[in-house]
Amino acid sequence: MDAVAQIKQSLDIVDVVGGYVSLKKSGRNYKGVCPFHSEKTPSFMVNQELQIFKCFGCGQGGDIFTFVEQMEGLDFGRTLELLADKANIKLEKKDFDVHSQLKNKIYKINETAARFFNYLLTKHSLGKKGLLYLKDKRRLEDGTIETFLLGYAPDSWDTLLKFLIKKGFSAAEVMQAGLVVPRKGDGSGYYDKFRGRIIFPFFESDGKIVGFTGRTVIDQEPKYLNSPETPVFNKSNYLYGLDKARTAIKKQGAVFVEGQVDVISAHQAGIKNVIATTGTALTTGQLNLLARYTKDVTLCFDSDEAGISATKRAVDLAEKQGFNIKVVSIPAPYKDIDEMLGKDVLGVKRGLESGVPAYDFFLADALKRFDKSSGTGKKKIVEALAPIFGKISSPVLADHYQKKIAEELDISPENLEKAMRFDKKGYLTEETVSGSEPFVALENTPERYLITLLMASGIDTIGDFVYKLSSEDFVDPVARAVHIHIQKLFKPDSTKFNIEDVINSVEEEYKDPVLEMYVLSGDYAQSDKTLIAMLKSAYQRVKGISVKRKLKSLTEKIKLAELSGSEKDVKRLTEEFSELSRELII
Ligand SMILES: [Zn+2]
Repeated sequence: MDAVAQIKQSLDIVDVVGGYVSLKKSGRNYKGVCPFHSEKTPSFMVNQELQIFKCFGCGQGGDIFTFVEQMEGLDFGRTLELLADKANIKLEKKDFDVHSQLKNKIYKINETAARFFNYLLTKHSLGKKGLLYLKDKRRLEDGTIETFLLGYAPDSWDTLLKFLIKKGFSAAEVMQAGLVVPRKGDGSGYYDKFRGRIIFPFFESDGKIVGFTGRTVIDQEPKYLNSPETPVFNKSNYLYGLDKARTAIKKQGAVFVEGQVDVISAHQAGIKNVIATTGTALTTGQLNLLARYTKDVTLCFDSDEAGISATKRAVDLAEKQGFNIKVVSIPAPYKDIDEMLGKDVLGVKRGLESGVPAYDFFLADALKRFDKSSGTGKKKIVEALAPIFGKISSPVLADHYQKKIAEELDISPENLEKAMRFDKKGYLTEETVSGSEPFVALENTPERYLITLLMASGIDTIGDFVYKLSSEDFVDPVARAVHIHIQKLFKPDSTKFNIEDVINSVEEEYKDPVLEMYVLSGDYAQSDKTLIAMLKSAYQRVKGISVKRKLKSLTEKIKLAELSGSEKDVKRLTEEFSELSRELII
């Protein structure tokens, strides 16, 4: 057994995390206030069975090693030392050598793969689809494609694997680089992780490639697929584009945009101080990294609701770490910076120079949405602003904005204070903070919510529901996959059912969201009456949506049958329709 496995066996994640965060048992999990972002309602969970942690507020997650690395800001070697010490395990020189050899190997594999993908994109007929997308839809030039070493992964099972094996790497090594995943079923062999995707390599400051993201060009879920965590890649501590933006950032501060393509097209337009996170909301680790170069940050996220809430979260976090934050909103009719860059580069440049301080942005946004001349309008504005302004950590800023809002709304500062419940430190008191967001977010995706509740349930309840549902009831590929696997692994006469088997058999690209749902499910107590009631209503919601979807498609079929004059078909379909409508009433 190697040192890492030995450490994992002798240390319990609950004890280690418990040394930093005060944890309380909650269902199958332990729960606490996240150490990586600021929150009042705990959404940070530790799962003892799987020995993992996950924050549903900021997205940080991983095992005991990831936790200590991020908490202490250490690299893997130092983390290994620290944990070995805790576990009373004596490290030998070979433990470090093995690790650094593996890291070097992964860098080599990544480099070779990136060059191969780039060749396929730019020179091979297989990459045509990808090249067309980048050039026509995204207006990228050849030079830009080379600078960012973009590539194309063909829609096949083992093109990359075969190539890398020919280059002298073993399949097991390629798997550790995160570029292939083990085959399910017979349990032997591997297949390419990225298929039918445009590939964006992740460069580090020294030019080494730590991982990849792939954007589908064949309409596969998810739209963007990231490398998993590997010995060289940790998405919570990585900023896309920083390697090329460093110098400009030192001079001009940093601009955060939403995605890889935004970074690249800004760069192409001569705006060089642009970066993005990859597959996570902004994290403390990323801000620590950025703080080496600047304390000035401009946020330029998409102008939709998701963009606004990402902005709020980023401001909250960055302000705590002492950043000066400005916000730029992309003016209508453009929906993101990339689109605007296609039409009006000068406008983007001017816009980025005239960002407004973050809190003024939120104030202006609320004033735009509600009518401040009416009483209800004022109330709504205060309600919208309270969660943001109540969290300002600087008393000077808090005081400044309290006065400003009071003036703007023409109410007395005393009443505003009451309404916003600023306490003496400028913080909100606990009861005004709304319930934890992740659960709300989960309820917005009814299918995943249903599956999560199912994962929390006892065997009898699972049995009651699993056969009432069919694959057709699910549109979400992750929820559908879990349902299929539960059905496959579940036996009507079983007395015990291991949900971990489901997690282990689900497709590699769905693993992260499934793990998340599983950890979340641990928060509900088994065989609880309320759980069953929640499950019932979640089930009805999913069924209802599914039936409506089927009715809609039947309506179309009936129309077609009528057009083609096939009376028999019309009759059969109409009967089917009324049969199905009855389900809707029940
Ligand atoms: Zn968090």
